[in-house]
Amino acid sequence: MSDAATSDQIATVTVIGAGTMGHGIAQVCAMAGCETRLRDLGSEQVQAGLDKIRANLDKGVARGKVDAATRDASLARLTGTTDLAEAVTGADLVIEAAPEKLALKQQLFTEVAEIVGADAILGTNTSSLSIASIAAPVPHPERVIGLHFFNPVHIMKLLEVVVGEQTDATITERIKTFAERIGKQAIVVKDSPGFATSRLGLVIGLEAIRMVEQGVASAEDIDKAMTLGYGFPMGPLKLTDLVGLDVRLSIAEYLAEHLEQGEHFQPPQLLRDMVAEGKLGKKSGRGFYEW
Ligand code: NAD
Repeated sequence: MSDAATSDQIATVTVIGAGTMGHGIAQVCAMAGCETRLRDLGSEQVQAGLDKIRANLDKGVARGKVDAATRDASLARLTGTTDLAEAVTGADLVIEAAPEKLALKQQLFTEVAEIVGADAILGTNTSSLSIASIAAPVPHPERVIGLHFFNPVHIMKLLEVVVGEQTDATITERIKTFAERIGKQAIVVKDSPGFATSRLGLVIGLEAIRMVEQGVASAEDIDKAMTLGYGFPMGPLKLTDLVGLDVRLSIAEYLAEHLEQGEHFQPPQLLRDMVAEGKLGKKSGRGFYEW
């Protein structure tokens, strides 16, 4: 274990998936002093992730938020690979940021568990799946925990730590210490549908869509109600455009089905119609706003 390890005993971190979330997670870990490995399926994805990290750090230096020595040291701690065994051998913490598919996450952790030591922590960045279900087939499921980061990871301060029924309490404590080290504020949430963030965020987002549907006000004015009236940094409809209407629809359907008294998560017809028409938000150029 290198000098970077502190009381959380996490010196080496592997991030699986170098996409939107994975590259940001790797960046904050490397900046905190961890030897960090980024793994994706193809070398193009790995390289794209590493390039984004370099660009983020360069921007930080240009803006005076990161000093050049920190950038260089962070990049020196970072490696990329497509080889799973090379990526996870000797890792103290493996964080998966692969697509939101239960079977894929279960399979990844099962493969990883065969390579890493029994005390390595397995963190999943799932935004909606049950931690207990992901952990179920994994040897030593007590080391599986939810580490829900927010986009963009190097800027957003929250880490929602999701504790499964099977998660060992000492793992939760180590992760809380680790969160501080990587500059995040941890909240600890029970493994329940939508955790804290999606459940609260979605209820406002869906109500805002129902208000557009009912002609209560324009999308712009509904957003202003929350930004100017409640100090939200961004209105719920603009946020829905950024997250993706299809993503929000599938989370709403999941919560409506799995939460006790989840009727208020039934997706509004307008949301279904917009998704069917391909109005997915920023990524498709049209949602509640033109992009
Ligand atoms: P993404 O599609 O941007 O990235 C996923 C990456 O995983 C891709 O580069 C893909 O090539 C790679 N991948 C696929 N299978 C793999 C495998 N077997 N091994 C290694 N890499 C593999 O997705 P994302 O938005 O970064 O989301 C990743 C996870 O984070 C999902 O579970 C998602 O729900 C969650 N999440 C996303 C956000 C967000 O705002 N995008 C926020 C919080 C949590």
